[in-house]
Amino acid sequence: MKKSSSIFDAIILGAGGAGMMCAAVAGQRGRNVLLIELADEPGKKILISGGGRCNFTNLETSPERYLSANPHFAKSALHRYTPQDFIALVERHHIAWHEKTLGQLFCDGSAKQIVAMLLDECAKGKVELRLERDISDVTHADGIFRVSCGDESATAPALVIATGGQSIPKMGATGFAYELARKFGLKVVEPRPALVPLTLGGDETLFRSLSGVSADVIARCGNAKFHEAALFTHKGLSGPAILQISSYWTRGQEIGIDFFPTAEPGWLVDAKRAQPRIALRTVLAQTLPSRLAETLSARTGLDGEMANIPDAKLEQAEHQLADWKFNPNGTEGFAKAEVTIGGISTHGLSSQSMEAKSVSGLYAIGEAVDVTGWLGGYNFQWAWASGWAAGQTL
Ligand SMILES: Cc1cc2nc3c(=O)[nH]c(=O)nc-3n(C[C@H](O)[C@H](O)[C@H](O)COP(=O)(O)OP(=O)(O)OC[C@H]3O[C@@H](n4cnc5c(N)ncnc54)[C@H](O)[C@@H]3O)c2cc1C
Repeated sequence: MKKSSSIFDAIILGAGGAGMMCAAVAGQRGRNVLLIELADEPGKKILISGGGRCNFTNLETSPERYLSANPHFAKSALHRYTPQDFIALVERHHIAWHEKTLGQLFCDGSAKQIVAMLLDECAKGKVELRLERDISDVTHADGIFRVSCGDESATAPALVIATGGQSIPKMGATGFAYELARKFGLKVVEPRPALVPLTLGGDETLFRSLSGVSADVIARCGNAKFHEAALFTHKGLSGPAILQISSYWTRGQEIGIDFFPTAEPGWLVDAKRAQPRIALRTVLAQTLPSRLAETLSARTGLDGEMANIPDAKLEQAEHQLADWKFNPNGTEGFAKAEVTIGGISTHGLSSQSMEAKSVSGLYAIGEAVDVTGWLGGYNFQWAWASGWAAGQTL
C-alpha cells in the first residue's frame, strides 16, 4: 500500500485459492481490487497441496461431502461454480491433468501451474497484489472499510475475509479470520483440526509398534464411514480413511475399523474348514500385513490351530475384526491438520454472495467459513466456488 491512503472498490484479505479466485472474478468484472497477503508469495497451500501436484477438484463434488453446522449453506455456490467450470479454466491455461482415484483431479506437472493460472487471471482483472503486508487494523465507518498496515492504509466499500483456517501454523495460519469476523459481530463455530491423524494412548499405545503398516479398511464414526487405506503411525492412526473419519470424530467417541471390508459373512469358519491346521494369525495374514495380523490375532486371544477354535469363538472374532474399536485420545492438532473444521458461522452469511447479513459490504469465503470438505479436492472446490460467488457480487 502507498504511504497515502488508496481507494479501491474491494479489498480482499488473503491471497490463497479463495482470495485469488474472488479477486480475479471481481477484477474481470471491472472492479478495482486490492489483494493483501501476509506471506512473501501467494497460494502457499496450493503449492504444497496434493504432494506438489494440487488435487484441485473432485468430480464427485456434492454438498453432502461437506461438513457445516448448516449443511444446506454450500449448495448454492457449489451448484453455480462446479468442478467442470474449474476444469474449463485449467484447460484454457493448457494445464494437463489426470484423475488419480475417486474423482480426484491432479495436475500432471506441478501445483505451481495453478498458482500461475490464478495470478494470470488476477492480472487480467488488473488486481493489485500486495505481499508481506501485516494488517494492523481494520475499521468500518460510513459504509467504508479501512485496512491499515502500519502507517499505510487502503479503503473500499467492500471487504472480503479470505485468510483461511488455522491448519499448519508454521506456514503462518492464524485465527485472524475469526478475530476479524467477531469484531464485526459475526459468530464463529469453534474451529478444530480436521483431516488430521488421530492419536492413541493407554492400552492402545501397543498399536504404535505397527508404525508404517497400512491396510484397506472401512473406518466408521457415528453414521459416517469411509472405505480407504488406514495407516498405523508412531502416534496412532492416519491414512486417508482415518483423515476422513477424523472430521466426524469428537473427543470421547470411538472409531470402528473393519479390517476385512470385502469378506463374506462366516468367512473365518469357512477358513477353518478349508485350512484346519493353520493358526488364526496365518489366516489373517492372507489378507493383512503379517505384523498387523499377528497383533490382531494376539488380541483376540485365540491361539493354536483353527481346528481347535470353536466356531462360536471364530464368529465372535469375525465381528470383532469387522468393528475393531479404537478410542483415540486426541488428534495431531493444527500442526498436522489439512483443514480446519468450524469457522465463521454460515448463519450470518448469504449463501448466494457470502456477504454478511448484518454488515453490508463484508464478505467471508474459503476455509475461513464453517464449510469443510472431504479429503480429495473438495476443499479447493469450495475455495473456488465461494470465491467465485463473492467475486460475482462485489
Ligand atoms: C498439506 C496440505 C495439503 C492440502 N492438499 C489439498 C488438496 O490437494 N486438495 C484440496 O482440495 N485441499 C487441500 N488442502 C486444503 C486446502 O489447501 C485449503 O482448504 C485451501 O487452501 C483453503 O483456501 P483459502 O484460500 O480459503 O485459504 P488459504 O489457502 O489458507 O489462504 C489464506 C491466505 O491468507 C493469508 N493470510 C493469513 N492471515 C493473513 C493476514 N492476517 N493478512 C493477510 N493475509 C493473511 C495466508 O498466508 C494465505 O495465503 C491441503 C491443505 C494442506 C495443509
